[in-house]
Amino acid sequence: MSRDALSLGADPSARKGPAEAGSALREARLDILIVGGGPVGACAAALLQRAPFSSPGARSIAVVEPAHPRVPTADAPLDARVSALSRASERILRQAGAWDRMSPERIQPYERMRVWHRSVPASSADVLAFDAAEAGEPNLGYIAENRLVQVALLDAFEGSGGQVLRCEITGLRMRDEDVIVETTLGPLSTRLVVGADGARSTVRDLIGLTADSASYRQTAIVANVSTARPHERTAWQRFLGTGTLAFLPLADGSSSIVWSADAEGAMALLAASDEQFERELQRQSDDALGAVRLRTERHSFPLRKLTAHRYTAHRSVLIGDAARVVHPLAGQGMNLGLLDAAALAEVIDAASLEGEDPGAARALRRYERWRKSEAQLMAAAIDAFDRFLAHGSDPLARLAQRGLAWVNRSGEVKRAFISRALGLTGELPQAARPAGRRAPA
Ligand SMILES: Cc1cc2nc3c(=O)[nH]c(=O)nc-3n(C[C@H](O)[C@H](O)[C@H](O)COP(=O)(O)OP(=O)(O)OC[C@H]3O[C@@H](n4cnc5c(N)ncnc54)[C@H](O)[C@@H]3O)c2cc1C
Repeated sequence: MSRDALSLGADPSARKGPAEAGSALREARLDILIVGGGPVGACAAALLQRAPFSSPGARSIAVVEPAHPRVPTADAPLDARVSALSRASERILRQAGAWDRMSPERIQPYERMRVWHRSVPASSADVLAFDAAEAGEPNLGYIAENRLVQVALLDAFEGSGGQVLRCEITGLRMRDEDVIVETTLGPLSTRLVVGADGARSTVRDLIGLTADSASYRQTAIVANVSTARPHERTAWQRFLGTGTLAFLPLADGSSSIVWSADAEGAMALLAASDEQFERELQRQSDDALGAVRLRTERHSFPLRKLTAHRYTAHRSVLIGDAARVVHPLAGQGMNLGLLDAAALAEVIDAASLEGEDPGAARALRRYERWRKSEAQLMAAAIDAFDRFLAHGSDPLARLAQRGLAWVNRSGEVKRAFISRALGLTGELPQAARPAGRRAPA
């Protein structure tokens, strides 16, 4: 921990304005500067700020985030950008002090999943059906607005003394003992810079980390819809041969659709009138929820995959979409990022206990080995789903498509899938484990 670090507003009533805070920070050396206050950066910040062994403010942490996300008012319609959060993510958000800040009226627990290929009807016994009760769980996860998660995490961070700077970074200079981060508020010195600035990460470029990146030649269309039949707290997903269509249940009874379609098909769907789009949506969903009505605009996201070759360089590290971007069909991008945040906080906390500074290469390499291998396994599984289930008609694809029915009948394999859906497989950070099973710090 730096001796010359300032206590950055541990008393919330004494919080400084951006310019004032920027000038105070310029005179100090931060322990950790997180670039990007999206859900993943905000989560890392909140966890690191709440490190169990340090009093609030003892470690100096700041987040650089140019956007001003606002908490939605209680009666505001639900946003179309939502994520399916796993049990592991729920535990991490609790540990970060964010869960109780998210209005329960805006979060929908889902208890079942129904997954099927277009070669079988929605009502068929070959539909892969997961039920939380089969795993002895109250639910399989939650559908929550991205901005709700982000604001709750930023609030938790600021509430325990962290500082959010409304600015952008423009450059980085590496030195032996610190990194000088150039921002639109002026230069800042930090022992560790965390790149949490999303898929087009400036930090990744500035620290010289390369990445493999390729287009899926698909576009995801996202919107909220109402449906004639109730969603039954169920996440519905149909593999279409030309992509994937998911209906995620929302807290107000409507559903969020994520429709990943090949680029050309997506252009036609985006150009279609509301009525044409609704009819096609109902047809492609195999009428699973009856007639469909759009409640929001259609938003589109061209899909790319990205894998950074390294997650860490001198006094710097990548987390979340800055480190890798996966196809949204399995709803795992944010879940992977929150696990990154928890794993990074854990290795830095362990290094601090041994007297090392947060930018110590040994801890950062441990984080990289841990999270890169876990994320690569997940990314490979997601790509296989896209290749053999969402697309594909060769013998291997047909085998995989029939495999859904086989998984449905095999109790053990099905339970393994449920564990994966809950995010409880692989090497979990302590923050993602059940409270009773956390290893002592
Ligand atoms: C259609 C779709 C559906 C999805 N559904 C799911 C799902 O169901 N479940 C799931 O787990 N994941 C899902 N994802 C993935 C999930 O949205 C992302 O993985 C997640 O938002 C990544 O969070 P992040 O904080 O790493 O990046 P981002 O959310 O991109 O945040 C990056 C932040 O960095 C800031 N920033 C950018 N540049 C700078 C800069 N130069 N200086 C300072 N700050 C900067 C930005 O303002 C932003 O706030 C989905 C993705 C898509 C496209």
